[in-house]
Amino acid sequence: MEDCIFCKIVKGEAPAEKVYEDENFIGFLDVNQVTDGKTLIVPKKHYKTLLDMPSSLGNEMLEAIKKVGLDLIDKGKAEGFNVLINNFEVAGQVVPHAHIHILPRKKEDGLKRMYLEDAKK
Ligand code: AMP
Ligand code: ZN
Repeated sequence: MEDCIFCKIVKGEAPAEKVYEDENFIGFLDVNQVTDGKTLIVPKKHYKTLLDMPSSLGNEMLEAIKKVGLDLIDKGKAEGFNVLINNFEVAGQVVPHAHIHILPRKKEDGLKRMYLEDAKK
């Protein structure tokens, strides 16, 4: 996908602060550091949403999530973390290349608990 910013990052054609890489995924810092260390995990191949990703990537994706989350905790950037995937524009997806948000959390970070019922208030 020529115009896809995440494809460009994967190919090294756009800048990103890479924090993780394995065979099929990379992890890099989100430009919007909602909390310090916020990371996006992105499949190297262009899939629009989670629905397009082959289930055979599931184990590797879970490993990537666990490694990035644990690394944030080990480095003292998080006491816990949220994992989020927005699928389709209506659900908040802005970049049309599937990606997983890893949001580091600390007790005093000022963010609300991310329960769905809070989203209506
Ligand atoms: P979503 O709303 O789920 O599509 O999330 C897109 C995320 O990508 C947002 O958190 C953006 O801050 C982030 N983002 C967009 N462009 C870049 C970029 N060039 N490098 C790093 N993060 C980006
Ligand atoms: Zn792409």
